[in-house]
Amino acid sequence: MTDLDSFRSDTRAGLEANCPPEMRQPMRSEDDACWGGRNWTFQSDAQRQWLEAMAERGWTVPDWPRDYGGGGLSADETRILKQEMARIGARQPLYSFGISMLGPALLKFGTEEQKRRFLPEIARGEIRWCQGYSEPGAGSDLAGLQTRAEDRGDHWLVNGQKVWTSYADKADWIFCLVRTSSQSKQGGISFLLFDMATPGVSTKPILLISGYSPFCETFFDDVAVPKDQIVGEVNKGWDVAKYLLGHEREMIAGMGLGSGGSLGAAMRPGDPLLRAEIAAFDVDALAFGAMSERFIAMWKAGEAHPASPSMMKYAGTELNKRRNELVMAAGGSDALEWESERTRGGQPARDWLRSKGNSIEGGTSEIQLNIAAKHILRLPGA
Ligand SMILES: Cc1cc2nc3c(=O)[nH]c(=O)nc-3n(C[C@H](O)[C@H](O)[C@H](O)COP(=O)(O)OP(=O)(O)OC[C@H]3O[C@@H](n4cnc5c(N)ncnc54)[C@H](O)[C@@H]3O)c2cc1C
Repeated sequence: MTDLDSFRSDTRAGLEANCPPEMRQPMRSEDDACWGGRNWTFQSDAQRQWLEAMAERGWTVPDWPRDYGGGGLSADETRILKQEMARIGARQPLYSFGISMLGPALLKFGTEEQKRRFLPEIARGEIRWCQGYSEPGAGSDLAGLQTRAEDRGDHWLVNGQKVWTSYADKADWIFCLVRTSSQSKQGGISFLLFDMATPGVSTKPILLISGYSPFCETFFDDVAVPKDQIVGEVNKGWDVAKYLLGHEREMIAGMGLGSGGSLGAAMRPGDPLLRAEIAAFDVDALAFGAMSERFIAMWKAGEAHPASPSMMKYAGTELNKRRNELVMAAGGSDALEWESERTRGGQPARDWLRSKGNSIEGGTSEIQLNIAAKHILRLPGA
């Protein structure tokens, strides 16, 4: 038996022993996702047990170093863990912007003290983070942001407004882009971390077409932030921001994978044209799955083109939108039903409406195409 074979059999036994049956059922809605944080209410004992069991082994972040709350697994071991979780249909124990976005940026740009302070809390799901990038006048043109942080000697004083801040009303801390100099657009941005309970921070939820309010307007009114909560150097936050965006796009690209099953196997509409569209979708989804495995292996090994998350984000989110369109087309007018138990509160329709945002969040599809055209294809004039 090789080391990896014995890792696989130990992992299989560990998961069998620790993953409660309820956590092996497909999620019925977004409400089944565990986000953790100071104010998190577990949906069930099973959800709590599953998070605790995985966090104890560092398996909420299997490839992070053990010193920072991770599992210290190699790339091969991490892949085996994922395969073994998929084998029993185990749910992701923790959904977290700390894991998918801030953590990688702290690992690369954070001080040793920042890594030891923030990463273990993220790994255990104790602190929930939100992302303060977009502003009313700065979305695609993110470097045009105007939220100011003034140097007040022993602290930064932050004033301004963010928008579309996902879960800002539920998050404990924010990673936030602020302007520390007006001398240069990109070169005047810094990357700050602060507690959402700091005096002067307020949030206002925005109601969406899907009936949910997953994000907010976020206001900063004379918010005092300790000096040591800056990541990277003053006025060099754009480097941190771009690196984090690559990881965000990698995470969003994963939406293209869906829940893993074939759409054709799940629904067989009478219309032959629709059946053909579903079959074509399944083929594209399989191709995307293969491309995604290759991309993630290269990305983790630092071998992927720096612009490749944009390509994957574009492909994954357009695929997810297509999946939801087909589910609605196959379901007919019945799929528009909004409130009954039978549709789990209109889940297919709400998922369909939510998927419209996929090609906007983390940078729009047009912007991803611009990046791929310029940096990957090197098209003239791009
Ligand atoms: C579900 C969801 C969650 C989000 N969560 C967060 C969050 O947690 N934190 C956060 O900071 N932000 C978040 N956002 C905001 C998101 O990052 C922005 O909406 C996005 O970057 C686009 O910016 P904008 O909305 O200002 O649109 P704009 O930049 O005004 O774009 C409007 C339109 O113009 C097009 N366009 C703009 N510039 C160009 C160009 N150069 N070439 C071609 N077309 C162009 C765009 O593609 C788009 O179609 C979220 C958005 C969504 C939908």
